[in-house]
Amino acid sequence: MQDAQRPDDHYDVAVIGSGPGGEGAAMQAAKAGKSVVVIERHTRIGGGCTHWGTIPSKALRYSIFQMTEVNNSRLFREAGVSVNFSLAELRRSASSVIEQQVHIRRGFYDRNRVPILPGRARFADPHTLLVECDDGRKFKVSADHIVIATGSRPFRPSDVDFNHPRIFDSDTILSLNETPQSITIYGAGVIGCETSKRIRNLGMKVNLINTRDKLLEFLDDEIIDALAYHLRDRGVLIRHREEYERIEGRDDGVVIVLKSGKQLRTDVLLWANGRTGNSDGLGLQEIGINPLPRGHLKVNENLQTEIPHIYAVGDIIGWPSLASAAYDQGRFAATQIVSGVSERALVRDIPTGIYTSPEISSVGKTERELTAEKVPYEVGHALFRSLARAQITGRTVGMLKILFHRETLQLLGIHCFGANASEIIHIGQAIMCQPGEGNSLLYFVNTTFNYPTMAEAYRVAALNGFNRLF
Ligand SMILES: Cc1cc2nc3c(=O)[nH]c(=O)nc-3n(C[C@H](O)[C@H](O)[C@H](O)COP(=O)(O)OP(=O)(O)OC[C@H]3O[C@@H](n4cnc5c(N)ncnc54)[C@H](O)[C@@H]3O)c2cc1C
Repeated sequence: MQDAQRPDDHYDVAVIGSGPGGEGAAMQAAKAGKSVVVIERHTRIGGGCTHWGTIPSKALRYSIFQMTEVNNSRLFREAGVSVNFSLAELRRSASSVIEQQVHIRRGFYDRNRVPILPGRARFADPHTLLVECDDGRKFKVSADHIVIATGSRPFRPSDVDFNHPRIFDSDTILSLNETPQSITIYGAGVIGCETSKRIRNLGMKVNLINTRDKLLEFLDDEIIDALAYHLRDRGVLIRHREEYERIEGRDDGVVIVLKSGKQLRTDVLLWANGRTGNSDGLGLQEIGINPLPRGHLKVNENLQTEIPHIYAVGDIIGWPSLASAAYDQGRFAATQIVSGVSERALVRDIPTGIYTSPEISSVGKTERELTAEKVPYEVGHALFRSLARAQITGRTVGMLKILFHRETLQLLGIHCFGANASEIIHIGQAIMCQPGEGNSLLYFVNTTFNYPTMAEAYRVAALNGFNRLF
């Protein structure tokens, strides 16, 4: 990483963290002509997103997908081809993507003349950061505005021994080199659900422990049911409403004793239950900012903390804890700093992309929410198995569901389950975010779609819903 030209400088904006939140803020402010500095404690830029979160997990997912495609293909089977890579081999593809990401992102900072200071930042006072490098050097950076984008890490309860070689969290699981025979995943949030299916595809026995009533309760019920069905169908054993009494790491495995009295023993355990905001060590209390119990920071609708010139973006502010959201929150905060107003749409109606297999994606309201709000809505479905494109590719599992107002025909929610759901959702999102009458189901009824495509699902679902009206 390159040092600032002149340490101990004053900048318009100082950003702590070079993940998507920090990058979004830094680029937006720099392009508006502000002098910007970024402070990053990791040896390379990109944040957890690039090095131990989104990119490694999605690259691994794709490698496993390719391997299972080959092994499940009749064509390859008949030719006697089968592949069986270890986890370490499958992960290798991730490292080249990480390198490319770091290289591209480095270019953004260089082109916009944003120096990156390598070191750990903490507040000396509300306008000054003390930066401590790994080699012991220390210097001060002051700024008119400061953006905290320090991300989060897995929450680690004190009664679980994370030093045990068979007990992992979502960061340390990346160092697992051997492919175990069995795994228990404790926590059925996004990371738990995504990992369970991926790992199951490697042939491991998987237990998924959910502390809640349903998987991913924020999703539409039909999608939740579909996810639970497909995980079970592929052999993942799901246990709902369970909590651990104790977790025992042994030489030959890990035993989880549940409060319900059940006991599970698997080769390894992945702890995937909650995250903690990286607010410790920033000296926040000393300047009058009080983190919430799990380390997250409270912000107002403009993403300002208790101290108005200090903003917080990304995972440090909690939900939705997505790279996509973090980047736009960063841009939003920078625009606030530069001009005092920002486009609210940037931080509202954020789509959800969940890379289970098949994928899930949604934007807008669920049926549960619309029913509770007594909105007169109607629903249109398209099942992937009825689409020519899905039949050709053989990826027939899935559905698109459109929720719309039965009087105004305004789109209220789009929910998709199946291959490429996280791409398909954006077609509906583009119409849903149109102002006034531009947001209408009629767009899908009256528009010609290429054939055969997955996008055609929108026309099928729209007609399905439209024909229900009376
Ligand atoms: C396994 C996994 C899979 C995921 N998959 C997806 C996905 O598919 N899609 C998606 O949208 N999101 C996904 N996420 C979430 C996504 O990675 C995060 O939402 C995103 O990285 C948050 O960005 P951020 O900028 O807030 O923080 P981060 O990306 O974590 O960056 C924070 C940076 O701040 C630095 N830092 C921290 N403290 C200091 C300090 N005191 N001084 C200097 N630097 C500091 C850190 O070193 C780090 O580089 C996933 C997360 C995980 C764990």
